[in-house]
Amino acid sequence: MRWSQAVARRFEELGGTLLLETRVREIAIENGRATGVVIEDASGASRKIAAGKVVSNIPIQDAFRVADKGAFPGDWADRMEGLYGYGSIAPYFGLNKLVMPEREWKVGVKDTYVIPKEEGFEYDVYMCWNIQSQIDPSCAPGGRHLMTAYAPVTEKEGKDKALMAKACRLIIDYLERRYPGFRKSIDWALFPTAWKLEGVAKSKTQAGTLKAPVEAPGVAGLYFAGDTVKGYGVAMDCAVAAGLICASRITGKDYGVA
Ligand SMILES: Cc1cc2nc3c(=O)[nH]c(=O)nc-3n(C[C@H](O)[C@H](O)[C@H](O)COP(=O)(O)OP(=O)(O)OC[C@H]3O[C@@H](n4cnc5c(N)ncnc54)[C@H](O)[C@@H]3O)c2cc1C
Repeated sequence: MRWSQAVARRFEELGGTLLLETRVREIAIENGRATGVVIEDASGASRKIAAGKVVSNIPIQDAFRVADKGAFPGDWADRMEGLYGYGSIAPYFGLNKLVMPEREWKVGVKDTYVIPKEEGFEYDVYMCWNIQSQIDPSCAPGGRHLMTAYAPVTEKEGKDKALMAKACRLIIDYLERRYPGFRKSIDWALFPTAWKLEGVAKSKTQAGTLKAPVEAPGVAGLYFAGDTVKGYGVAMDCAVAAGLICASRITGKDYGVA
């Protein structure tokens, strides 16, 4: 929260105007060129903001809800709409003691076979975890520990409440097998799940140049940014890299990411 507020503050210091509670209803396109956006505020009032350049941060799959799909090359637009992301289970455990070997207290651990796909998943579910409070002791009260974990799942699995509940049980079973006594060491556990962690999963059919380019094909003056656009790294890294590439194309300046 504080991070996004700091970014917003800097944006305004640099002369940007931030419109909250406001949706883009249309990216206006005339004769193959972006001419601005039609916005609607919280009161339902709408107006057009004219602009020669428009940057859309809307996930590319949803971009054609506000931009006329017919203005883009048909095959490309169909492919963009079909790009899929992935979700995750991100367990948090409050622990009253550490039952894992000491050599694992300060490192990230990963196991590729935490839940076998035979349990009803599309792939074997892997999981990474670490004892966050060993890295930052302020994460837990004295004598207690915070363990955080991350296990990716498909979008469909992330929306399946029964499957997610089963996954939570299986994750605890797995940790008990790996670290006998783990179950008893749990003071509390949270299992946040998300169906869209990253907008485009890096599968071989959609990674790298197969993602959306920063410059919209077929529409001059329209740019795309965000984690569904060609960038580097995953998730936030990718969104930031795509934003820098986008800024570079618009201003002509080199921001060190091409
Ligand atoms: C639970 C969770 C945990 C995560 N943890 C990590 C992590 O630890 N590390 C990491 O690198 N990444 C993490 N991610 C992923 C990271 O949050 C995303 O990769 C990143 O936010 C993508 O940024 P973005 O700007 O592309 O999209 P978003 O952050 O999704 O921003 C797009 C914005 O567009 C807005 N929007 C959509 N349509 C319209 C419209 N018509 N008008 C106006 N606004 C519109 C949406 O409301 C949204 O605010 C996590 C994601 C989730 C869900």
